[in-house]
Amino acid sequence: MNLTLKVIVGMALGVVVGLAINFSGLHYQGSFVQEFITGGLFYVVGKMFINALNMMVVPLVLFSLICGVCGIGDVKLLGKIGSKSFAFYVLTTAVAIASAIVIAGGLGIGEGMNATSEANFTAREAPPLTDVLINIIPTNPISAMARGEMLSIIFFAILFGISLLMVGIKATKVIELIEVLNETMMKMVTIIMALAPYAVFCLLAKAMAELGIDLFTQLIGYVVVLAGILLVHLFITLMFFLKVFSGLSPRIFLKKIRSVQVFAFSTSSSNATVPVTLRTVTERMGVNNSVASFTVPFGATINMDGTAIMQGVATVFIANMYGVDLGVGGYLTVIMMSVLASIGTAGVPGVGLIMLSMVFTQVGLPLEGIGLILGVDRLLDMLRTAVNVSGDAVVSLVVAKSEDKLDIEVFNNESLDDSDRGSIKVDREVGRDFAKAMATAYRGK
Ligand code: ASP
Repeated sequence: MNLTLKVIVGMALGVVVGLAINFSGLHYQGSFVQEFITGGLFYVVGKMFINALNMMVVPLVLFSLICGVCGIGDVKLLGKIGSKSFAFYVLTTAVAIASAIVIAGGLGIGEGMNATSEANFTAREAPPLTDVLINIIPTNPISAMARGEMLSIIFFAILFGISLLMVGIKATKVIELIEVLNETMMKMVTIIMALAPYAVFCLLAKAMAELGIDLFTQLIGYVVVLAGILLVHLFITLMFFLKVFSGLSPRIFLKKIRSVQVFAFSTSSSNATVPVTLRTVTERMGVNNSVASFTVPFGATINMDGTAIMQGVATVFIANMYGVDLGVGGYLTVIMMSVLASIGTAGVPGVGLIMLSMVFTQVGLPLEGIGLILGVDRLLDMLRTAVNVSGDAVVSLVVAKSEDKLDIEVFNNESLDDSDRGSIKVDREVGRDFAKAMATAYRGK
């Protein structure tokens, strides 16, 4: 079995086992299953895996982006790639939320329902746009890296890369070193991904055991409409974009993006999925690292089509429920706020709700309305994160194709799998030769 298939099997088994635990009634507060299986084994293995992925994000983005900038070697082209991807990201997000509002509004979801919110939702502060802009430039790059602030890291890496190019030939050794470090990071991702099938199983079994599907029946209208629009965006809107702007085959894309989607689905985080997205987009889809090293982390931060769709549907749902008529102006504000909010917030689990509270405050919808959808949000977060990362990959391909930075043969090669580009074994001969060479070098000193 290849790795993609193993991960998908892990996911499916996780869902089945999780639901079985939920239905069996063995999963209650303080039970053996809850303490040792879902809250114990599954929780620990799943969380360790997410930690491992997150561990890779900062060094991978830093090294691959510096390599990318040096690989392009042309500041103007860099600017073009930056502005194009920004425009596409904003465009796809705006289309996503606009279509969500139109469809959900047309279906009239939430109309005639009683607004009784049980869960209390306390809104967390989302950063104001001015701060987002100012903080793109870190006062201290090390602390930006320590905190995983993606836009600051991107800014620092680009400036560092450009400066290396300006230093010129003297910097060759440094660039070579960073290239080796980048390759090493990719190998680390390979090692971590080999464990993915088991981790994905644990993550999904835990989520399903805890959530079950009872909750959904109460909010079935909201869930079905939202999931439906997410799928429409993924399979129709994004694929239309891909075909029209790059001419690439949506079928091959959908086949190759599957494993990235599974990672996004099980971690609920575009950020944690960056290593996998980057690897897939470069190695299996043929996007040159000089484009992908920028578009992928940039997209994980600013591009959230799935999240925008959730905001559109949730706004219509709650406005209808509370009998508030937002009018065209109100909905236009919602679209604008969602697009802006997605730029300033990182792709981490549950961040969509924070963005939603920003939107609600702006248009004057009651914040406790968010409490209504809180229960089902965890699972919908998984689904929308899978759409978010697919959007990142589509834009990466479109930008790469337009700048002639796409290896079309790699894209069209359908047999390329996740595991094809590297075994996780250390070749004994190579290891021994390497050790010998190191020993000789040190003795020489
Ligand atoms: N979890 C999503 C992401 O990481 C963001 C959200 O919708 O909450 O992309």
